Amino acid sequence: LVRLSGVDKWFGELHVLQDIDLEIGRGEVVVVIGPSGSGKSTLCRAINRLEPIDNGEITIDGALLPEEGKELARLRADVGMVFQSFNLFAHKTVLENVALGPVKVRKKPKAEADRRARELLERVGVASQADKYPAQLSGGQQQRVAIARALAMEPKVMLFDEPTSALDPEMINEVLDVMVGLAKDGMTMVVVTHEMGFARRAANRVVFMDGGKVVETAEPETFFTNPQSDRAKDFLSKIL
Ligand code: ATP
Ligand code: MG
Repeated sequence: LVRLSGVDKWFGELHVLQDIDLEIGRGEVVVVIGPSGSGKSTLCRAINRLEPIDNGEITIDGALLPEEGKELARLRADVGMVFQSFNLFAHKTVLENVALGPVKVRKKPKAEADRRARELLERVGVASQADKYPAQLSGGQQQRVAIARALAMEPKVMLFDEPTSALDPEMINEVLDVMVGLAKDGMTMVVVTHEMGFARRAANRVVFMDGGKVVETAEPETFFTNPQSDRAKDFLSKIL
């Protein structure tokens, strides 16, 4: 569903993505882990062209991501993204946050978008908060609204960049549980996280990045119990 081939990205002299080849199948859940600065966020941002790439190709469902223009906006809407910071519109209610994109970008009638937004808020467990503003919600609730907002666009793939790392410990699981549910429902997902419990519960594959390269790819159990590269062994010894 998502294919990167020969992707390079430089920030000035810094070669942050080095010849990345990666294929993510429909319904597959890929967890990306690696040390700080290894290029995980840049990889996510490249997949929906928040970050232009210097070499290579990225296709979503067979369509090549163009550099800019109308086509890009349409393809980008196929890629839902959830960040570490929740990025909700502060002056819109929870319901409006979720219903706005479908009306503006997908040209859905407002009544239908509102109905769908309520369903999604139900699914992520915050239906009772629909008429509140983001600041009135806990971090975990805000992040679940951010997930509902991304889902409202009916994306083909969801990208999560450290979605729980800004949360207090007691709120991490309520967000991870929603993500595990999504994975079980067959959503294609790329998840940057150091939550190994999530990787074990939901991932089909772990991709280990270091220094802008994909160093190792393996099933979670294999990766955690028997990493092949020295760099992965070293990284795991620090986080486990
Ligand atoms: P972390 O775990 O800390 O989030 P990461 O793996 O997500 O790290 P990236 O954010 O992708 O790493 O950054 C990769 C490298 O690119 C880092 O060395 C970073 O300093 C650099 N970098 C990221 N964004 C920019 C930018 N806009 N301009 C210049 N350098 C950047
Ligand atoms: Mg990052």
